[in-house]
Amino acid sequence: MNVSVVWFRDDLRVADNPALLAAAADGGAVALYVLDEVSDGIRPLGGAAKWWLHHALKDLRSELNALGIPLLLCRGPGTKVTQELLTTLGATSIYWNRRYGGPERAVDGALKEWAQETGLHAESFQASLLHEPWTVTTGAGNPYQVFTPFWRTVSAHDFRAPLGKPDAGRGLTGEFSPETSLMTEELESWALLPTSPDWAGGLRDTWRPTAAAAQELLTDFLQGPVGDYSDARDRPDQHGTSRLSPYLRWGQISPFQVWAALAETRSGGTATAGGVGAGSPGPSVFASELGWREFCWHQLFHHPDLATVNLRSQFDTFPWRTAEDDELAPEQLAAWQHGRTGIPLVDAGQRELWHIGTMHNRVRMVAASFLIKNLGFDWRLGEQWFWDTLVDADAASNPANWQWVAGSGADAAPYFRIFNPVTQAKKFDPMGRYVTAWVPELATEQYPEPLVDLQQSRRNALADYASIKTVSTEV
Ligand code: FAD
Repeated sequence: MNVSVVWFRDDLRVADNPALLAAAADGGAVALYVLDEVSDGIRPLGGAAKWWLHHALKDLRSELNALGIPLLLCRGPGTKVTQELLTTLGATSIYWNRRYGGPERAVDGALKEWAQETGLHAESFQASLLHEPWTVTTGAGNPYQVFTPFWRTVSAHDFRAPLGKPDAGRGLTGEFSPETSLMTEELESWALLPTSPDWAGGLRDTWRPTAAAAQELLTDFLQGPVGDYSDARDRPDQHGTSRLSPYLRWGQISPFQVWAALAETRSGGTATAGGVGAGSPGPSVFASELGWREFCWHQLFHHPDLATVNLRSQFDTFPWRTAEDDELAPEQLAAWQHGRTGIPLVDAGQRELWHIGTMHNRVRMVAASFLIKNLGFDWRLGEQWFWDTLVDADAASNPANWQWVAGSGADAAPYFRIFNPVTQAKKFDPMGRYVTAWVPELATEQYPEPLVDLQQSRRNALADYASIKTVSTEV
């Protein structure tokens, strides 16, 4: 029997997985996951992301086992490890779903080249994005820099329906048990979970990192909250958003699955009391948020160094503070990280992040703006902190959004937009429920004085930004 390998990466699901389907249709399938922390340019995962990955792999293994497909775990440089495994197994083919980051594409490209030289069948598929970056360009053939025309162009199309799971019994578990052989490592040996200290209690209480949980969240969201999404999505004191971001990040649910379920809701299929009636803007606004995810990935594809280099080069000379710039810098940065800035909405968000690995989108914008514009720090310091602490830490969405807030990115916030955390709190957390949930000592003497004066620091930022003065340019 042919041995076909499916290489899992950020697509940790068995349904709507074209690479898995292809492997299962081509002889006996074996699944592989490679923990690659060493290939050139591959960004090591942050702490919260590792926690998620551990659980997602356990879930994937049990889903694959039910199909009779063994999951092998290997560690090392992706191209080399995969080549060795294919050779040892005597495999005839390898399948994967495409990735869009620069270093990842280099790894995959090298493997494809090797496979072609060796006479192995290698095939890749579209699974993580509704639109592959090279398929969407302006009339002049350039990538879009502005979201609205991007979305106008791409949202006019429909997409393929989600694919099913492979039939059970197409894997090699029955006649060959590589899991017990030396080819696979123990998940526990990767030490992805924190032990001393075990800081993951809040994550465990908050999240179920399984593909089944993603489907349940989607169903619940579409049966109710999506109707009010256009308003409620800005309210950190309400459950107005889908909470799907980590599942999309890890590919436990695909954008095709979300889009198809949403389309059914929009056509009236599953609309219920939540009011997804005709004319409700909620579903369209939600669809456009999926569009922002795509827009971020397209940016990363065209700018592989999005996490480190300003998209707008005029920002290269901007006088941002670093962590060592002045005496106060390390202390102020730590105060922001741990939610002790004396600005309640910022502190609530940073504590939410630290405890449960996420932060409401509105508060992400406010906390990021405060770090960059009121404290004057380089956006890369905030990006790195989010990368380490978010369960949805995403190689594209995280830097793209940080650059958006800083003003250095695509379709960026204008330089004069400096979120005022006090008025933002009044508007989006009017009863103070969100803030008091995370900052219970707010009205006591234990709560610190503000690190900076909001008005003065705003004026300072405007003066610095005045030297740059960017405006969004439509292309
Ligand atoms: P919903 O409101 O239900 O939206 C549905 C989906 O659309 C999300 O799950 C997400 O996949 C996508 N989406 C929504 N907003 C955005 C956006 N602005 N950019 C890109 N995709 C979006 N999102 C991440 O997935 N990973 C990150 O690392 C990340 N870092 C961010 C950093 C900053 C400074 C900011 C301001 C935003 C960041 N976001 C990031 C975007 C956004 O905050 C989260 O996607 C959102 O809060 C997730 O909650 P949800 O799943 O309930 O979203």
